[in-house]
Amino acid sequence: MKGMIRKCASCGDYTMKTDHCPKCGGAVKNPHPAKFSPEDKYSRYRLALKREGEGGRTPESPA
Ligand SMILES: [Zn+2]
Repeated sequence: MKGMIRKCASCGDYTMKTDHCPKCGGAVKNPHPAKFSPEDKYSRYRLALKREGEGGRTPESPA
């Protein structure tokens, strides 16, 4: 099953284990940074669009 992979917080290795890393025994976590960066990117655009909708002009908006 895809999406169940975890990443070790200690050695950075990827594993299917959900409790601990089979290599070093470190704690594993869900590698989700890729899901946050695009959302943050879009939130910037959304903020700009919202400002425009409210009638305010942003200095960074293209002419
Ligand atoms: Zn590890």
